[in-house]
Amino acid sequence: MVLAQLGGSISRALQQMSNATIIDEKVLNDCLNEITRALLQSDVQFKLVRDMQTNIKKIVNLDDLAAGHNKRRIIQQAVFNELCKILDPGKPAFAPKKGKASVVMFVGLQGSGKTTTCTKYAFYHQKKGWKPALVCADTFRAGAFDQLKQNATKAKIPFYGSYMESDPVKIAVEGVERFKKENCDLIIVDTSGRHKQEESLFEEMRQVSEATKPDLVIFVMDSSIGQAAFDQAQAFKQSVAVGAVIITKMDGHAKGGGALSAVAATKSPVIFIGTGEHMDEFEVFDVKPFVSRLLGMGDLSGFMDKIQEVVPMDQQPELLQKLSEGNFTLRIMYEQFQNILKMGPIGQVFSMLPGFSNELMPKGREKESQAKIKRYMTMMDSMTNEELDSSNPKLMNESRMMRIARGSGRQVREVMEMMEEYKRLAKIWSKMKGLKIPKKGDMSAL
Ligand code: GDP
Repeated sequence: MVLAQLGGSISRALQQMSNATIIDEKVLNDCLNEITRALLQSDVQFKLVRDMQTNIKKIVNLDDLAAGHNKRRIIQQAVFNELCKILDPGKPAFAPKKGKASVVMFVGLQGSGKTTTCTKYAFYHQKKGWKPALVCADTFRAGAFDQLKQNATKAKIPFYGSYMESDPVKIAVEGVERFKKENCDLIIVDTSGRHKQEESLFEEMRQVSEATKPDLVIFVMDSSIGQAAFDQAQAFKQSVAVGAVIITKMDGHAKGGGALSAVAATKSPVIFIGTGEHMDEFEVFDVKPFVSRLLGMGDLSGFMDKIQEVVPMDQQPELLQKLSEGNFTLRIMYEQFQNILKMGPIGQVFSMLPGFSNELMPKGREKESQAKIKRYMTMMDSMTNEELDSSNPKLMNESRMMRIARGSGRQVREVMEMMEEYKRLAKIWSKMKGLKIPKKGDMSAL
């Protein structure tokens, strides 16, 4: 069962319960059993689902339900809270500090997306001003070094590896030492995988870990592995000190529930998810939006409430219309930038969108971010109406970008950077396509 279906199943279970005239224990149990079934079909581990069911029963007070409170909402909220609890191990992952050398070791089975993810992780930090470097300590898979080299070259990230040396520990140590000397602040060590969990893999991981003393070990897991997620994650955790998890291939037919299981097994948070094969298809992971999506509540339940709370009534329909169409043009981006700069009501709303403002305007760097937004707007001022109203980034070919750069007195590189930002925001925006608009305060309508 993929995520969207899971949300639908849970909503149906809640709906059936609401239809009952009297909510007694049997009706509640039927509802919870339905939800349990849906979660199991989404690959959440059995024990987790069972514990969750017990906890929800403890929390949900039948007397409250009988008193006619919004039943669906109460139970949905309890399910939501329980899932968040599983996904949030209560302690954040070690956070490397910019400018101070940290070693981050990646582990995972072959094919999980480990090598791709190492580069994505390096690239993500590089864009934020870090000096990352990649070390290929995967001597098991033929071609691993070539793949890492190719990715690293594309992203202009320094790398280290060897075609001749077969000892992964030696390569890892040499690579880490070299990059420490070169003042890199994020030294990423890619280790070997195997097709299945086996002692030789774990022994090799332990040796590399002992020799390089990583500040953080990241376990990379393919989201489509299903019920095996818990055991796999636990096996890795038992061999090395896994401190964070990255789930890959969330763009495919992932069931997603495995992510919950992996966190429960490693007691480490998911920090990123992979959403495609490309270098920038990589997102910071936030527990609450993920669970909202898992439950079909829409990523944006809080966002909708906020729109109704702060946007003047007469401006709501237009904004909601644009959102539900999911078509993000450069003109819409321009208007949203204006709103963000004014910090008017709509600006406040957008600052709640995951990825919209935390990335665009990170806390503590508001001045720089504002300057960046203004720069983008100057460049958009040099665009034609056709360009502003198109939602096809391919329209912006090289000659158009050169013209815009000339017209706004900026570099072509900067125009390209703005278009990248546009594509990122368009992706977030498109997630709202077809979003149903709930009545005020009624989250259960979602
Ligand atoms: P490794 O053996 O664990 O190092 O795995 P690779 O990095 O070689 O990845 C295996 C395959 O998965 C490659 O074809 C990658 O392009 C692909 N891949 C990795 N991450 C993602 C992702 O987030 N989404 C999709 N669709 N493919 C991915």
